[in-house]
Amino acid sequence: MLHLFLYLVKELDTRQVNMREMLDIEKVIEAIIFAAQKHKGQVRKGEPDSPYITHPLSVAKTIFAIGGITDTDIIIAAILHDTIEDTDTSSTEIRENFGKEILALVLEVTDDKSLERIVRKRLQVAHAPHLSPSARILKFGDKIANCHDILHTPPKGWPLERLRNYIQWSADVIYQIRGTNAPLEAAFDQILSQAENHLNFTVQPFETIDERDWSPKYIKSDQQE
Ligand code: ZN
Repeated sequence: MLHLFLYLVKELDTRQVNMREMLDIEKVIEAIIFAAQKHKGQVRKGEPDSPYITHPLSVAKTIFAIGGITDTDIIIAAILHDTIEDTDTSSTEIRENFGKEILALVLEVTDDKSLERIVRKRLQVAHAPHLSPSARILKFGDKIANCHDILHTPPKGWPLERLRNYIQWSADVIYQIRGTNAPLEAAFDQILSQAENHLNFTVQPFETIDERDWSPKYIKSDQQE
């Protein structure tokens, strides 16, 4: 019994050391500095006092602390995930500073801001099943952070229906990438049930997506316009 215990302690200890060795802290901090400079002056929608960089950092924290992700590339992609979408950062800059693997991951979760919001929403639903395993992790982290903020610090002026729609749309995107990471999935489901309570509605099953504005069935007509 004692032997088993000592073995487990030793095993856990080496694993922790391995975990620290796996995550390249210097590269991670480099990414934090890069993203903080890029998002300089931007604030969170629901919290004008909170700098935008807290969002990508909370995505990184979520996938690390809850999802158990210790892969440096995925953690860095989480930190950088909104730089191309929301700042003047170019793909070349990300590639030159962080490499083509991280760039590819960031691009997988980057929306085309030149499109209308509803079109972007439809495309996220349509693209979700085609995301790579690492991009699915980023998607989970992003949706957990955003839905958490929608509940706890809702953007000013958003009517109840818009908050509900945001949660429902996120649930529709996430539904398609379930089976990726159980703890992240559980964390997302917990937020969904909180949302149902706080916003007093029932999240509808994915099967009914065609009843919603962000159904991918409209994408063909978007392209014809
Ligand atoms: Zn984000």
